[in-house]
Amino acid sequence: MAFEQQPIALLSVYDKAGLLDFAKGLADAGVRLLGSGGTAKAIRNAGMTIEDVSDITKAPEMLGGRVKTLHPAVHGGILARNIPSDAADLDAQKIAPISVVVCNLYPFNETIARIPPPSIPEAVEEVDIGGVTLLRAAAKNHDRVVILSDPKDYPEFLAQWKAGNGQVSDEFRQRMAVKAFSHTAAYDTSISNYFRRQYVSADAIAAAPADQKAALTERAQQLTLRYGANPHQKPAQAYVTEGTLPFSVLSGSPGYINLLDALNSYALVHELSRAFTPNKAAAASFKHVSPAGAAVETKLSETDVKVFDVDGVGELSPIASAYARARGADRMSSFGDFIALSHTCDVPTAKIISREVSDGIIAPGYEPEALDILRKKKGGKYCVLQMDPSYIPALQEARQVYGITLEQRRNDAKIDASTFGNIVSKNKNLSPEALTDLIVATTALKYTQSNSVCFAYNGGTIGLGAGQQSRIHCTRLAGSKADAWWLRHHPRVLAFQWRKGIKRADRANGTDVFVTGEIFDADAQGSERKEWESLFEAGQVPAPLSADEKKQWFAEIRGKVSLSSDAFFPFPDNVWRATRSGVGHFAAPSGSVMDAKVIETADEDNAVYVFTDLRLFTH
Ligand code: 5GP
Repeated sequence: MAFEQQPIALLSVYDKAGLLDFAKGLADAGVRLLGSGGTAKAIRNAGMTIEDVSDITKAPEMLGGRVKTLHPAVHGGILARNIPSDAADLDAQKIAPISVVVCNLYPFNETIARIPPPSIPEAVEEVDIGGVTLLRAAAKNHDRVVILSDPKDYPEFLAQWKAGNGQVSDEFRQRMAVKAFSHTAAYDTSISNYFRRQYVSADAIAAAPADQKAALTERAQQLTLRYGANPHQKPAQAYVTEGTLPFSVLSGSPGYINLLDALNSYALVHELSRAFTPNKAAAASFKHVSPAGAAVETKLSETDVKVFDVDGVGELSPIASAYARARGADRMSSFGDFIALSHTCDVPTAKIISREVSDGIIAPGYEPEALDILRKKKGGKYCVLQMDPSYIPALQEARQVYGITLEQRRNDAKIDASTFGNIVSKNKNLSPEALTDLIVATTALKYTQSNSVCFAYNGGTIGLGAGQQSRIHCTRLAGSKADAWWLRHHPRVLAFQWRKGIKRADRANGTDVFVTGEIFDADAQGSERKEWESLFEAGQVPAPLSADEKKQWFAEIRGKVSLSSDAFFPFPDNVWRATRSGVGHFAAPSGSVMDAKVIETADEDNAVYVFTDLRLFTH
């Protein structure tokens, strides 16, 4: 049978490192050598005997090297299994089986990294065809064939081959096959990456002739970014390998962090909107890949209008009310936000945005007049992205950390009213409003860096404790933000006599240091205090809120706020702290050894406590 002939090794390598020693080792072990043009020549020049591939194909290399090993005599010899029918086929065609394939590929990456860069035809010539076919064929038939794609493996192969009398272990063949498959996969990734940037990038499309642009815009797969998270992190890009980018850039040019915020915040509002039947308009205000605020449409009271600083805009649409509330959750953190809307951006929403300091917006659509307003922001540099609302991301997601790829199923857990059915406290009275707030808080947590705890009220988040390593610190942070939010509604704050011409951001900062009490700290009595006092009309500097005033004010909200936690509460201290900030409805997964004690603590305050069965860590 053909398979009992002298073993044959086919060598076709671009990187000729270690080749001569290896060829000698193979020849000494009685292996018959077969090589493609340059590889055979190098070995022959070193005084060794090697046949040309063309000797067995009876076809010369052609097309300037484009076709060297692509021939049934080669691939039949590699792909034949150790079974009688394959052996008979080889015999019929007078093809000898090949036992070892040694191949590495043209240096595509090095070529495209050249300065100045190669022309596209030059890059095209670096696309290895036959080598990839050799690698895949041999790797596919690893049950019988050894594929060596890395010169580092030559010594181990020779050692095993000699010790095994012409055999290597299954483990070695399998390991080498994985290496070859990975080699071709990485190679194809580089090639597709290169041609994507040349042919279907947003930049290439922008440079296309005007009459072709409209049709091409729909096809962008890649967007070059100025830099990554920091200016020295270059190059940077965003791309998809299947389909097209689900968003288009209507104005400005998004950066890397803009896109992290845009895509996460859009996912949040898209999901939050659909958690309700009928869908509610939802908005989010993101900073550093966590929401500063998120909300669903809820009519704004006159006080809300003042606190959220949206007077003078006129009648607010549902989506405008959602954004006003989201931005009003934590006006200081929202400074320079990235905005996401679940619904078309209309004129009232654009008017609100036009007055705020913001970096960009993502929405499924824009009314023409709204788009005009937004395009004028930041001297025309305001980033406006339009998202395809029908886009469904792949279920499996991957990223790299320190060179290692981490892969997981996307967090596609659904949060809606049914998430909050397991009420474990004595008080089972979860009002529709509190349920809405729990949905808002929990959905916000799903897109917040962990650990995280979120307080919500009236359809919007009012305090988010994100990215803390201990849960109680999340609760304290969220609680102090919620306290500040509620104190901003205090009649004394609403009656502040700001000096004429004070900027909105200064008012937000001035209010914040007042409600947190920062400015009354003994150490803040110098220029800091003077500057704050200068925000007010002469003689109108507000006196601090007394302990009594605060106590009375917090009594008004007691039990009305809802809280969600991205993981269980390990100790009852979280419940105690949250209760002081008005929380009367809790949602958290179970699983703590202290669960019973935590529920008992909620019961002491007649709070509603829900086990969600859903941990929501985000990293
Ligand atoms: P050599 O230096 O031996 O002439 O060429 C070795 C290179 O050619 C290897 O990198 C191998 O991947 C590649 N190669 C092998 N067969 C073919 C083929 O049929 N077509 C093309 N384009 N490249 C091949």
